[in-house]
Amino acid sequence: MTMNSSSSVKRDCYIGIDIGGASIKAGVVDAEGKIRAQRNKVIAHESLSSLSGQIAAIVSELRGSDSSFEVRGVGIGVPALVSKKKSRITISPSLPYLNGVEFKSQMESLLGLPVSLENDANVGAYGEMLMGAARDVQDFVYVSIGTRVGAGLVISRRVYQGAGGFAGELGHIAVDPEGKKCFCGGTGCLERYVSAPSIAQRVEERIVLNPSSALQIITDRPINAQDVSAAALVGDKMACVIIGEVGRYLGMAIANLINLLNVEMVILGGGVIEAGDVLLKPTIEEVKRHALSPPYDDCRIVASALGSAAGVIGSSLLARDMLSVEAIL
Ligand SMILES: [Zn+2]
Repeated sequence: MTMNSSSSVKRDCYIGIDIGGASIKAGVVDAEGKIRAQRNKVIAHESLSSLSGQIAAIVSELRGSDSSFEVRGVGIGVPALVSKKKSRITISPSLPYLNGVEFKSQMESLLGLPVSLENDANVGAYGEMLMGAARDVQDFVYVSIGTRVGAGLVISRRVYQGAGGFAGELGHIAVDPEGKKCFCGGTGCLERYVSAPSIAQRVEERIVLNPSSALQIITDRPINAQDVSAAALVGDKMACVIIGEVGRYLGMAIANLINLLNVEMVILGGGVIEAGDVLLKPTIEEVKRHALSPPYDDCRIVASALGSAAGVIGSSLLARDMLSVEAIL
């Protein structure tokens, strides 16, 4: 009787789950940070139990996808303010049924695996720090612009948490004191001007006034931020104006960050940044107008190196590091 060689060595892996406002991205990531398998699902949940069930199904599917994996833990990034102990979701504006939920312990019971829980922008920052644009950078800010707008602040290669764990809510910094009302109760919050839904809203407000826009051909569904980015990339005038406005608001907020923190790098991530240079250029121009020259000169403003995988890689490596004695966060 011989030993079955296939049963001998399994590779330690971690599952990263990045919950967005519209989709769940998930992946199996090995201890070196390489993605081994991936799943993207359109979000199909309107309650805590359906979200939990959807996550459990994805985890089960990924665990069964390759017998050479040994999944040691699961990291979950959530669009929410997470308590400093990283056990409880304090507030989730986009998924309000998560408010006040002890999500870490609930998911550990359901999955039978250790779970780490963190804000989505913080896991993106963690991914970029370990595997992306900030591998050699001490101090940086990762700005995530999607359904929501958030930031992960990394100071001396640690994600800065703040008193309650809620640091980095860049989306609720005011950029217009007389501006649009925000769901948070504030007025003129950055998120109301640069998030994906706010971009779609700008199109809705203006499309009738722009009969020649390429976006006019989309009649069978609502126009989304990706459509605007794609149209801007091919030079559509209305789309370029809208993306330019987004860049100006974003640049103003980033200039404030640079003046305040003197970071080496600002990384722009999230779906809206797929617009590339069309968005980066007006953003950087506006930063230059508002920031002081010395901190501006110290700072590189770049697009995310990991792109849409930043959250999956960051959350899985956080799960890895939470299981080790020397947790970095
Ligand atoms: Zn707000």
